[in-house]
Amino acid sequence: MTGQDSKSQACDDLELGDVLHEECGVFGVYGHADAGALTVLGLHALQHRGQEAAGIVTSDNGQFIPERHLGLVGDVFGRNSQAAKNLKGHFAVGHVRYSTAGGGHARNIQPIYADLAGGGLAVAHNGNLTNAHALREELVAEGAIFQSTSDTETIVHLAARSHAQRIVDKLIDALKQVEGAYSLVALTSKKLIGVRDPHGVRPLVLGQLEGAYIFASESCALDIIGATFVRDVAPGEMVVIDQDGLRSHFPFKTQKPRFCVFEYIYFARPDSNVEGRNVYESRKRIGEVLAEEAPTQADLVVPVPDSGVPAALGFANQAKIPFELGIIRNHYVGRTFIEPSERIRHLGVRLKHSPNRAKLKGQRVVLVDDSIVRGTTSKKIVEMVRDAGATEVHFRVASPPTTHSCFYGVDTPNTDELLAHKMDVEEMRKFIGADSLAFISMNGLYRAVDGGIREPASPRFCDACFSGDYPIALTDQEGGAPQRQLSLLADVA
Ligand code: SF4
Repeated sequence: MTGQDSKSQACDDLELGDVLHEECGVFGVYGHADAGALTVLGLHALQHRGQEAAGIVTSDNGQFIPERHLGLVGDVFGRNSQAAKNLKGHFAVGHVRYSTAGGGHARNIQPIYADLAGGGLAVAHNGNLTNAHALREELVAEGAIFQSTSDTETIVHLAARSHAQRIVDKLIDALKQVEGAYSLVALTSKKLIGVRDPHGVRPLVLGQLEGAYIFASESCALDIIGATFVRDVAPGEMVVIDQDGLRSHFPFKTQKPRFCVFEYIYFARPDSNVEGRNVYESRKRIGEVLAEEAPTQADLVVPVPDSGVPAALGFANQAKIPFELGIIRNHYVGRTFIEPSERIRHLGVRLKHSPNRAKLKGQRVVLVDDSIVRGTTSKKIVEMVRDAGATEVHFRVASPPTTHSCFYGVDTPNTDELLAHKMDVEEMRKFIGADSLAFISMNGLYRAVDGGIREPASPRFCDACFSGDYPIALTDQEGGAPQRQLSLLADVA
């Protein structure tokens, strides 16, 4: 299966292959008697970052205890589950994963763990390495035997081959060889380690609870366990925690930070604070700027739930147009509830989103959504709102046009499948059937999130899926190779 095939297959779910999927969330605990249970709760709060699999490795008297399973956190580690009971020890790392459909991916569930010279290492990783294929080919040629197709295992192999004495130094050696985006938590028998790549593309925060240290992808996972937010782990920082306390290292070449701007638009949970900004407030501000940039005459502002809600609130406030829940989302639709045939796909959108006819009938409606990916969902939602009696449908998008794939840990369709890559705004408007269509501008997005405009020579965020300006080399894509992210492959030829 090629990366393209696996991506397409992954997208053939109930969400019509038309949403972006964050691939992972990570969590770690150092020094708490309930480390396993805290990690279950933390992963539950990070469930939006990955719903296919959940894994936790605890350390009890130097022994790793792994529990890694397909399914939602609550299903895998629910009350009275044996998996949850097994998680003994004061130290833990955990992971939720969005992975591809198709066989063979149970072996890719993280954390990945192995015995290295000098002790065990368990690693949970959020992001994607952009030279993992190249590294893997070298490692396999030299005799390495991989058990998974996860790029996280590449990190473990590289650490295993390091001649450094200490595990921390082995991990540094490994990470100096990789390119890409990573926020990872790693556990040895004596230490918990949190690291962000030098560009800081994916989030990672540090917290404290009753003397224990916590790492989490987002602050919402600290809130659920009552932990105090201490700070973001800095781009390029390695935080090492052991019985002597916490030490901070910056072992990598310094780079300009390029945090993923899409975390503010869609991926992160609205109640999280990432990189010093509240996600909910950022989204509302994006909606306000969108209303300034693309005003329209209308009777109602209606969000495409759930992700469009904060931006729609901001739009409505700024435009002084009433906000209404004109579309109701069913939260209980299973991801694999139905077969993804064309006919059933059409039914799928009605299963997930229903029109609130009493509000829509006879109204001029502004629909606000976070993004347009392939456009199929947007088209069906516009159709649904019109069928419910709306007299005009104006579509406003809280991100610039998504023209490029992400290679830094978000499952996007291939570039040539993205609607904005194939069409200009007017063509997209016709495709989705709206009376008008507008996206927030790139400068508007920067202004909303950060207060300034985008400096083309030195942007403050990664915005590659809107600009094509990839801040980290795409080594695995060179030479006309198919678009691929190693962690997405069900099998590697
Ligand atoms: S390409 Fe887009 S989704 Fe991927 S890291 Fe950059 S901004 Fe985020």
